[in-house]
Amino acid sequence: MPLDSHSLCPCGSGKEIRFCCSEMLKDFQQLETMLSNGQFSASLAMIEKLEEKHPNNAALMAAKCLIFRETGRFEEFFAAAGQFYGAYPQNVKAIAENTFARTLAGENAEALSSLIDGIEKNEPGKIDGNLLGPLALLVTNLLDTGQIYPAVALAKLLRSFNPKSREAAALLGQIYRSKEIPLIEKEITFDPAAPDDFPFRDKYADAAVRLATGHWKEGKALLEELLSCAGQWPNLYRSLGLVHFWFGDLDKAADAMKKFAASERVPFDDAVDALSAAMMLRRPLSDDAAVIQVVRTVPDPDKAIELLLSSPRVISMPFDPHQFTAGGQPAPSHAFRVIDRPFPEQGSPVTVENTPVTLGTFLFFGRQTDREARIEIQIFEPDKEKMISFLESVLGGNLGPETGSMTLSTLPWLFNRLGPDFQFKAGAAVKPEEVAALYRSYFEEVFAGQWLSHPNDYLGGNPPAELAGQPESARTLAALVQTVAFQTDPQFADGLAAVLRGRLGIPQPEPIVPPEGTDSEVLAFFQNTPIWRWNRADLSHVSAAACGQLLQVISLFEEESTMARLSERILSLPADEKDAQARYLAYRVKIGIVEAAEGPARALELIPEAKNAARQAGISEASLELREAAIHLLLGRAELFQQTITSFAARHRNEPEAMAELQMLLMNLGILNPDGTPRAAGPAGGAEAPAPAPSEPKLWTPDSDLPPSGDGSSKLWTPD
Ligand SMILES: [Zn+2]
Repeated sequence: MPLDSHSLCPCGSGKEIRFCCSEMLKDFQQLETMLSNGQFSASLAMIEKLEEKHPNNAALMAAKCLIFRETGRFEEFFAAAGQFYGAYPQNVKAIAENTFARTLAGENAEALSSLIDGIEKNEPGKIDGNLLGPLALLVTNLLDTGQIYPAVALAKLLRSFNPKSREAAALLGQIYRSKEIPLIEKEITFDPAAPDDFPFRDKYADAAVRLATGHWKEGKALLEELLSCAGQWPNLYRSLGLVHFWFGDLDKAADAMKKFAASERVPFDDAVDALSAAMMLRRPLSDDAAVIQVVRTVPDPDKAIELLLSSPRVISMPFDPHQFTAGGQPAPSHAFRVIDRPFPEQGSPVTVENTPVTLGTFLFFGRQTDREARIEIQIFEPDKEKMISFLESVLGGNLGPETGSMTLSTLPWLFNRLGPDFQFKAGAAVKPEEVAALYRSYFEEVFAGQWLSHPNDYLGGNPPAELAGQPESARTLAALVQTVAFQTDPQFADGLAAVLRGRLGIPQPEPIVPPEGTDSEVLAFFQNTPIWRWNRADLSHVSAAACGQLLQVISLFEEESTMARLSERILSLPADEKDAQARYLAYRVKIGIVEAAEGPARALELIPEAKNAARQAGISEASLELREAAIHLLLGRAELFQQTITSFAARHRNEPEAMAELQMLLMNLGILNPDGTPRAAGPAGGAEAPAPAPSEPKLWTPDSDLPPSGDGSSKLWTPD
């Protein structure tokens, strides 16, 4: 809608133009047209002219920020945003631009503080549309820098302010599904209400509303006022600790969580969760070690290659030389992996003792016109001596002096130990169950012992084993075990945790028993049970329908062990038409499990039962049909695949969602380009690039479907 004198003034005052910058209405109208047509340089010239007559006009400053930002002139944008915010620190548009600028400059703490100031200009539950863009950008920045708690909280906020935005949903979905982020970091939250007997219940309710609506500074102030009553209700510490997480005050957060966990009124499991939440924070630990690159010359490269290729511990890795030619540098001639022991003899049992792991890798560069032949070794610093002495033993005098060394990254001790990189000889017929047993015995026998005797920062540098059996350390030790388990491959986490608890004298977690009541009572029970404890629930009295509801929730997080338990429970009950939806969901999970464990042919056998459940539930069978087609292809039945797809396209051509799913499948299989054109006829000219994975939507960028920069209209600069 074009601007008129009754429109809200683009200066952000919140008043109508006729009561505000009324004399500039014509200029604003012209500017709005030019901006929405993308005439940025002409607009800028006009603004500069207008500013001679109207210096420091907020609407003009806002338009200038927009132009610089949209055209990627970031230095000028930072200056313009600084000027605008300096002149109008209370104007939400100025705050939004300041938040954008701080975020783009990577100053996350300042950006967050500015964002919260902006949100607090509105009443709880409302947000100025100008803040949505910088809010989304800040979420991605926080995720990139490992500040998970504020990232998750802001992503949920963005979603609640923007329930219809697909990008906001995709961003949150991506966080939920991420295997890198433990469930506790995604779902730990403050209490929505204080207990009935807490004297300042209303004040806490006020704080909770503010925390839930992004009024974090106000909420935090209220909690701090209430803190003198924490003796009566220690959960105040946990709520406050969370707000400290959000603001990046990590020491204060850890301190609050410790106070909460130390209270005898707090149940063991809750204390353990709060302590592990603080331990999950990504911050430097005293056992962090560097991954380094060391360069050594090679006097006789031909001889060196011959020696390397004849060593049973040096494995030549296939690699793409193009990957290394960026920047005009010559590519290496070989890439090698060094394993810590030779491969076992064919047919010997697979054990931790005889299965090698990678010690390090190196690239081999032949002689260049101005440079001797060399190797570039990438290695975890503590393993450097081992690697060098091994290479000396293979190459002898052909390992020349060190000519360079640099740190590539830093990794915690734990990270290195939790991901053992077992190597199997090419062509060795090792069964999947042998690999699983190998990893299990690594975690439960080798790793468990190492971890128990390794000095731990959270225990003042003591190894956990030293505090075993001490009742006053039980909560902390249990939290450490839980933290390690959260970071371990889910397949082995429970087994490892049980071993560690046993050796530390900590009780094993008890099963969680839901009430034997109506479905809504059962669901209410689960709603009040942290989601990372659901895998401990005793499901033997939970109905199929309730399991279906729970399955729907847990599927958002792709938490496989709970998904498997719920679907098993549903399918173990007699099939009842009223549970069709739950059965459909359960089959979808089971098809995935069976496909991975027993192969696609077995998974295919489940499709008819799944379709039957879908029909009874009135759910489209489209995604099952596509699953079926994909399995045909996996089994090498190209003709059946073709038939299934053709009939699918004919039957569902009027269903946009089904057709989008089809396109996604064809893209995943590399048959279609992302723009929908067939790959064979694509412009790539035969160059086979790997297909992108469209199942992961792109991280949200500020110029997609959210206001202010789009929303389907041409509104860029004027208020909603
Ligand atoms: Zn105005």
